[in-house]
Amino acid sequence: MDVDEIRETLRARTGGTCEGVWSAPGRVNLIGEHTDYNQGLSLPMALPHRTRAAAARRDDDLVVMSSRGFGRVLTVDLGKVGPGRPKGWAAYVAGVLWALREEGHPVGGMELAVESRVPVGAGLSSSAALECAVAAAASDLFGLGLLETDEGRAALAAACVRAENEVAGAATGGMDQAVSLRARADHLLLLDFARGTAEQVPAHLDGHVVLVTDTRAPHALVDGQYAARRRDCERAAEAAGVGNLAELEVDDLPRLLPRLDEVAAARARHVVTENARVHGVVDALARGDLTTVGRLLVEGHESLRDDFEVTVPQLDVAVEAAVEAGALGARMTGGGFGGSTVALVPDHLAASVERRVRQAFAAKGWESPVSYAVRPSGPAAREA
Ligand code: ADP
Ligand code: MG
Repeated sequence: MDVDEIRETLRARTGGTCEGVWSAPGRVNLIGEHTDYNQGLSLPMALPHRTRAAAARRDDDLVVMSSRGFGRVLTVDLGKVGPGRPKGWAAYVAGVLWALREEGHPVGGMELAVESRVPVGAGLSSSAALECAVAAAASDLFGLGLLETDEGRAALAAACVRAENEVAGAATGGMDQAVSLRARADHLLLLDFARGTAEQVPAHLDGHVVLVTDTRAPHALVDGQYAARRRDCERAAEAAGVGNLAELEVDDLPRLLPRLDEVAAARARHVVTENARVHGVVDALARGDLTTVGRLLVEGHESLRDDFEVTVPQLDVAVEAAVEAGALGARMTGGGFGGSTVALVPDHLAASVERRVRQAFAAKGWESPVSYAVRPSGPAAREA
């Protein structure tokens, strides 16, 4: 569905009114996993896959919304939005308008028609793409002016995080919304969760693509496992006598790890070495040293597999097959227990890496994975 079609979808419903079309990207994290809640670093990028929202203001407080593939038109009264209300996908949309209003912005009801190219539930952040497209539309239509500066975009991202945490009830750390609103084409975004900063890092991927593979592995036990990892990290930080694991350096580990129980030690080792790998990737990118970037991706995967224990066989096999077929490196991306992998691949090998991963899955009798060759793309914006 292109811009004209989504505009027509809204017009057909509103009797001709559409004030514009906005879109926001999904994201993939190149490296820096399970570091957000440890106040560490991550290095995500925006995908070319976007969620579009055609929008118009209403003169009441109703949010009337449809999304292609998500059933009938829904209507939510903004005055009735709050923690856990509404349920379902409407929470992500109405939640953003609610959060902006909570922050004191003059936001009212809207008509919205949504369509998305971001795969849902693949760990590529379709939820943030939806929130950020709605936030962008609200900012322009209600004259908030928040898309014009990076500071304003950070404020929009914060509202989207509130929508997701408080209204949808999903515990996310803020990476997704930061990327969707603040990324830049051909750049990675270096997020420092301790300092709350977002820094543009030129990607210099000349002649290479990032191959994202949705493994389609069924997510199992995710919620309990995520909470357990957070607790392990808190326990490790406490035993180490620091506020959070990001305060530690790799050099501290030999002295520290013997003081921790085996599980806490392994979790701490992942977080501390992962932050160092993020720095390593940023430095290597600046030198144009993609071989080192690839090596650090593989080390990151091994750390998530062996120390953080969040991979599943599909993630491990996708990474191994990609590297065997000529990727400079590959790793699982996102929280784990399913979801997607990223691989750094020379352009001319992208098709054969993709094929090799598919063959490896077929040999195991697994559902066929879906790959996307991508480059770092642009942030939420008005399209029409
Ligand atoms: P992801 O990794 O894709 O963000 P989440 O579980 O965080 O996975 O978010 C997926 C949820 O976001 C969906 O179940 C749905 O409620 C909502 N969502 C995402 N994209 C859309 C869309 N285009 N239209 C309606 N709801 C969407
Ligand atoms: Mg999400």
